[in-house]
Amino acid sequence: MRRAVRRASIAICFGLLSSCGQETATDEFSSVVESTDPVLPEEPSAASSGFVVARTRLPNDQYAGWEAYVRGKRLLEGYATFLNGWISLPGRIVLTFAACGRADAFYEPKTRTVTMCHELLATFADVFGEMPEAERDQVVLGATDFIFYHEVGHALIDMLDLPTLGREEDAADQLAVYILTGGTDEGEQAAIDGAVALYRLEEEMDEGAVADEHSLGPQRFYNIACWVYGQNPEKYANLLLRSGGVLPDARAERCPGEYAQLEASWDRLLEPHLKE
Ligand SMILES: [Zn+2]
Repeated sequence: MRRAVRRASIAICFGLLSSCGQETATDEFSSVVESTDPVLPEEPSAASSGFVVARTRLPNDQYAGWEAYVRGKRLLEGYATFLNGWISLPGRIVLTFAACGRADAFYEPKTRTVTMCHELLATFADVFGEMPEAERDQVVLGATDFIFYHEVGHALIDMLDLPTLGREEDAADQLAVYILTGGTDEGEQAAIDGAVALYRLEEEMDEGAVADEHSLGPQRFYNIACWVYGQNPEKYANLLLRSGGVLPDARAERCPGEYAQLEASWDRLLEPHLKE
């Protein structure tokens, strides 16, 4: 049942799809908070629980193009629609894009805000700069989906007081893969795009702003590739090293088990909070 919910909802909700969030058109804006301040104020008009989209005004025009792009795609609205249809929260988690001064994405427990930085999208566009534009757009959006759901992982761990074994960063990566592999090719591709983006970022940024407390990019890359492979080894046989992919057989053998464990853990942790 809950798998069905995750599968059914997810098809309309990724930035990969230009129709993302459009079904909710104008009504959704009643829960949008406009802010001139990077620290978001409480807004009585906004929903008191669930994922709420907020606008953080840009300090200048440098990232106006990216702001227009994500607004035009209704990216955050699409994420919020999916998440609110899937999971119940005891409070509000704010989702916003901002110019942060660095290529980053983060969750702030104090304000319960997930901030996606325009600089991160711009950096993704740079690291995939050799691709034709349409293809690059897809990969940038896929990687953005992955990073977004990673941050949602931090937010859910905090708000729902979920236990994590091992590093929270790895748990957040797991949750991103768990959500993205909910049954669509687009979601699975987004997880792979996220993995490749992390790998390339690590290569390009020596003091990677995205790296810090996270596992090293290549390590996360192999984990994510392993989980995507593990949830459907026949479909993702091309991820095997011997098929021109990246996973050595010794690791690949363990991937179905790793994914099954990941999925069972998150199923169990989230079940009390899922909507029917
Ligand atoms: Zn993280």
